[in-house]
Amino acid sequence: MRDFTLKTYKSLIVAFQEAGYQFQTFEEMMTVPVMGKSVVMRHDVDEKAWNALKMAQLENKLGIRATYFFRIVKQSNVPEVIRQIVALGHEVGYHYEDLAIAEGEDALAIKSFEENLDYFRGYYPVKSVCMHGSSTSKYDNRLLWKNHTLSDFGLVGEPYLSVDFDKVYYLTDTGYAWDGGKFATRDVVVNDFGLIFHTTQQIVVCIQEGRFPEKAMVLAHTLWTDSFSQWMTLHLREFLRNHLKLAARNSRFLGKLYENMVEMYWKK
Ligand SMILES: [Zn+2]
Repeated sequence: MRDFTLKTYKSLIVAFQEAGYQFQTFEEMMTVPVMGKSVVMRHDVDEKAWNALKMAQLENKLGIRATYFFRIVKQSNVPEVIRQIVALGHEVGYHYEDLAIAEGEDALAIKSFEENLDYFRGYYPVKSVCMHGSSTSKYDNRLLWKNHTLSDFGLVGEPYLSVDFDKVYYLTDTGYAWDGGKFATRDVVVNDFGLIFHTTQQIVVCIQEGRFPEKAMVLAHTLWTDSFSQWMTLHLREFLRNHLKLAARNSRFLGKLYENMVEMYWKK
């Protein structure tokens, strides 16, 4: 069975449900956390916004609510998609990258952060934000919070600042694998649950055997698709990207090449 399709995504959700996990949005986790087993399904919509809508529809059908973080760039910020995801009852948050866009200029960055937050509040009363990794930028978007506080903007949480990942197990599907963290450059969370998964099926089995942690945040990007051609293309792209990323760490030439490729990709 192909992994990272909507079918496998459904099997993951159903496994959580059958094991008695409650689903909370990130905002709820911050403000009204439930006792016992619970999981936050978090979606960083880096691109392929229409895929996010398909996940949102599936989740709605299964009776759960998730959290969708949208970027301001056009690959993510698709008004029709945001509107429909809100209508399906999910939480919408802002996937900010203002410090990288402003090239480290704090005053510029906070101004654009505020404007963009206001923009997304036109769709949903946004209460949470989450930094985008901006892997080729030298600026860490989180550093915006060195001089500012979430509450100044009416925000209740930022996963990388507000969650204790020693208590909440964090899983991410970076590069079409659950153990692809070695390819991530910045949005890395270190924890000590002693669990390593490669495939979604391995997670499902772990949940079924009762070995999965009580509290979790699962980050699923928007590359999950039932379309075979898109799935193949994306797998090839992720494979190349992961290996180029690793090679780039040891070679300035490859590093530059990777940066240029990413820049071109987002400009198109
Ligand atoms: Zn991102």
